[in-house]
Amino acid sequence: MGMSKLNRWALKRSLWAFHINTGSCNGCDIEVIDAFTPRYDVERFGIRLVGSPRHADLLVITGPITRKSLPRILRVYNQMPDPKFVVVAGTCAATGGLFTGSYNIVGSVDEVIPVDAYVIGCPFRPEALIDAVVKLIEKIEKGGNGDEPRENREDN
Ligand code: SF4
Repeated sequence: MGMSKLNRWALKRSLWAFHINTGSCNGCDIEVIDAFTPRYDVERFGIRLVGSPRHADLLVITGPITRKSLPRILRVYNQMPDPKFVVVAGTCAATGGLFTGSYNIVGSVDEVIPVDAYVIGCPFRPEALIDAVVKLIEKIEKGGNGDEPRENREDN
């Protein structure tokens, strides 16, 4: 089922984001915060960080999925209301990065939950995160669906 016209109208300028670290070295977390500083000001696109996944439309994930973070990220994702979107921020979240093959690593984020946008870099630049968010907003405006099966999404 696609998003309603009201959902698209409301989300395109008011995405509320919840940021979670699933095993990052903290380098990417610093860049997420950097994007919200006055220098980069991602809030000009209507985005703000919220303290609960229950209030969030957008999940920003840094780091690979570790064995310990797996049940937590699934819980957080399931706590978010539909329609919901996921941005993986950094090479480790997108691919496992330099942690790939470690005894404690389950894998990349898209191995456990659907992903809408990827930001690559170790760490990524704040501009790259802003670019991904703007493209996601454009996708929402065109009717991109935050809850359709991953294999049906246009970025696959
Ligand atoms: S991509 Fe680089 S900076 Fe980001 S969590 Fe991985 S190692 Fe750290």
